Amino acid sequence: MTIALRVENLEASVRDLKILKGVDLSIPFGEVHAIMGPNGSGKSTLCHVLAGKSGYEVSGKVLVNGLRMDDLDVSERARAGLLQAFQYPVEIPGLDLSVFVEEAAVSLGNPAEEAAHRIAAKARRFGMERFLDRAVNSGLSGGEKKRSEMFQMAVLEPRVMVLDEVDSGLDIDTVREVATAVSEMRSPDVAVLMITHYSRILNYAEPDRVHIMIDGRIADSGGPELAHELEAGGYSAVRSRLGLAAPRKVPPAPKMSDIFTDTPFDL
Ligand code: ADP
Ligand code: MG
Repeated sequence: MTIALRVENLEASVRDLKILKGVDLSIPFGEVHAIMGPNGSGKSTLCHVLAGKSGYEVSGKVLVNGLRMDDLDVSERARAGLLQAFQYPVEIPGLDLSVFVEEAAVSLGNPAEEAAHRIAAKARRFGMERFLDRAVNSGLSGGEKKRSEMFQMAVLEPRVMVLDEVDSGLDIDTVREVATAVSEMRSPDVAVLMITHYSRILNYAEPDRVHIMIDGRIADSGGPELAHELEAGGYSAVRSRLGLAAPRKVPPAPKMSDIFTDTPFDL
């Protein structure tokens, strides 16, 4: 079994704040893994650090298909096949979706003609044809933006897909639609890491493994039954089963990362 994404003892800090405190994770090709965790546990930071965003002091190892990512920046990691979709897709007025996604595909090394064919095929599959000649995400509903992101991902054919809170702010039908899109991207050549706050998307996306992140570490891993435990008893039940202390009540620090770095693909 080949490992698509391997993370070993990953630590990350912003200034003096240690956010990731030794994350270990291993996702084989063909599998979908979910990470769940309370607010502020470090899920988005993990996504940003995996994608190679600057602004973090990082130690530990990240390997994609056996290749060390340490010295690679966001676009180099994207070329190595690691792509991240974002919790809050941005709007890009004045740039048509078809142009944007074709340029992204070409910059990742795909010939333009092949990219154009793939765009047409995936647009049909994701029902995105009518959005191709409209500005990226402009005027789209929350669900349509997510669908657009899934479409962009499908065109770019990553080896490792990192999806941060694909389901936040969506109604239940759209959650199901996004989950179906994630399931459709399941293939022997791709691994998916899906971050979610809620367990409902996992009813449709059927992850192979569920990991629970608490306070910057993977505190527990298991099958989909872990998500059901969370649904029933919340994080306090998981914390008490694992013998972890209840969280301290501190107001969250402002999150610069959400303001400055949540842009699609960042190529
Ligand atoms: P999650 O996605 O699990 O809600 P985050 O990874 O966004 O958690 O944040 C984890 C913790 O790190 C939070 O306490 C958050 O306020 C803090 N944090 C994240 N990014 C920054 C940053 N750029 N500067 C300061 N604190 C940050
Ligand atoms: Mg987050």
